[in-house]
Amino acid sequence: KEGLQAAFTSLFKRSYREIRAVQGISFEVTAGSVVGFIGPNGAGKTTTLKTLSGILHPTEGEVSVLGYTPWNREPAFLRNLALIRGSQPIGGPVELTVLDSLRYQQLIYEVPDEAFKKNLNELVEMLHLEPLLTRQIRALSLGERMRCGLALSLLYRPRVLFLDEPTLGLDVTAVGMMRRFISTYSHQTGATILLTSHYMADVEALCGRILLIDQGQLKYDGNLEDLSTRLSPYKLLKVAV
Ligand code: ATP
Repeated sequence: KEGLQAAFTSLFKRSYREIRAVQGISFEVTAGSVVGFIGPNGAGKTTTLKTLSGILHPTEGEVSVLGYTPWNREPAFLRNLALIRGSQPIGGPVELTVLDSLRYQQLIYEVPDEAFKKNLNELVEMLHLEPLLTRQIRALSLGERMRCGLALSLLYRPRVLFLDEPTLGLDVTAVGMMRRFISTYSHQTGATILLTSHYMADVEALCGRILLIDQGQLKYDGNLEDLSTRLSPYKLLKVAV
């Protein structure tokens, strides 16, 4: 299952009873790329990410991620995937230090010591975590907990990342940090990233390819420049917000 060119392919429909959230979307994403997944509220973005992650079963059709069928939830698949919704602050017992919490994650995901050290060092550098490692979780600010949460989600070095609105609710500084982090992470690890955002600036900064979904259908697949020439600024704004 290694060395596949396509990190994931999908051709599926997903309904919630009579609500047809995803009416049939088909796409293929090349390994190592960062793809923006945009569309208005209720377009079907989260449903798609949940289906690709194996949380939801498609009502019809097929999904393949790294050669796996996501809803089988095979351990090898789960160890290669992270679904991060919003900016997930580090959770768990608040009396633990950040480092203890990361060690606990190492055990859960069975990360070998060597890989743990290497991944941790890289994440500490990218997320500026050095001064936080020995602090208790209860003593961290929200922004610090968010950075630690990111390290926790990525400690086992997933090859596929689904980021659902990673900059939602962040202040300007944190938005900048998050964008730099996503870009550095994808360059350093070669991870394949599918990210949703309502901020065009996010996809402009990070994504070479855009998938636009509306009413559960894929309406556009291409680069942002071409999308901007095809849609009026008003329509583009409507898609983004
Ligand atoms: P947003 O940008 O607002 O997060 P989205 O593009 O992620 O939206 P989804 O959350 O995938 O959209 O929702 C797609 C459609 O499915 C919407 O009409 C939504 O109301 C509906 N839906 C989502 N989850 C459920 C659910 N658990 N039960 C019933 N309907 C749902």
